[in-house]
Amino acid sequence: MSDAIRPLIAGNWKMNGLKSSTGEFEAMLGGAGALSGKADLLVCPPATLVAAFAGMARDGMVAVGAQDCHPKPSGAHTGDLAAEMFRDLGATAIIVGHSERRADHGESDALVRQKAEAAWRAGLTAIVCIGETRQQRDSGKTLDICKTQLAGSLPDGATSTNLVVAYEPVWAIGTGLTPTTGDVEEVHRFIRGVLTDRFKEEGDRIRILYGGSVKPSNAAELMGVANVNGALVGGASLKAADFLAIAAGCP
Ligand code: PEP
Repeated sequence: MSDAIRPLIAGNWKMNGLKSSTGEFEAMLGGAGALSGKADLLVCPPATLVAAFAGMARDGMVAVGAQDCHPKPSGAHTGDLAAEMFRDLGATAIIVGHSERRADHGESDALVRQKAEAAWRAGLTAIVCIGETRQQRDSGKTLDICKTQLAGSLPDGATSTNLVVAYEPVWAIGTGLTPTTGDVEEVHRFIRGVLTDRFKEEGDRIRILYGGSVKPSNAAELMGVANVNGALVGGASLKAADFLAIAAGCP
């Protein structure tokens, strides 16, 4: 973890959570103070809970985000939600280009880029996800895939406040498998190079999260890798105790 960059632990609740889940979020708000500022915390619940969580988090130490948005600010797009709508509810960030959206909805790099631009238009931070499949890793294409996804998904004008990059190997998401720390270090170093080439000094400060089966037992090791500036956490972010323990693992 770079000394200068404050880590971010972001929770992606995916399609999980009902009104009754507010208790778990309440516990996160209650426990966040004890982390003595080790990391910024963000929870991205399903869209149905963003308003409730943002209301609970007002003045709290946990920010609230969304998991996807439409590129347009409004219009005839049945069932879609605009970045401006999430901003209106109190969200501060939006995950875009998660591998589950790329796979389930056929999202291209170009669409992910438009969604990141939509987040910026609404004044929100875009958390742009990239990562290789198992087959791509096994055929030695990991860095090429990351390079292509970064080139296609990141808009011009990224800064350390409007962009977070999440490296999430697809094969590590929800499987309990993680890359070796050496593999994580290699990819994060590569991403850092791409960011500094393209965004100059801002690129040196943009947070690069690792995501894929992060849990309390492996968080400290993964968060200690160079150029790992926090984590995007799926399953383990659903329980306050686990989410807070992961944040406590930040150096
Ligand atoms: C994710 O979906 O972004 C993720 C990292 O999931 P998990 O932590 O469950 O692997």
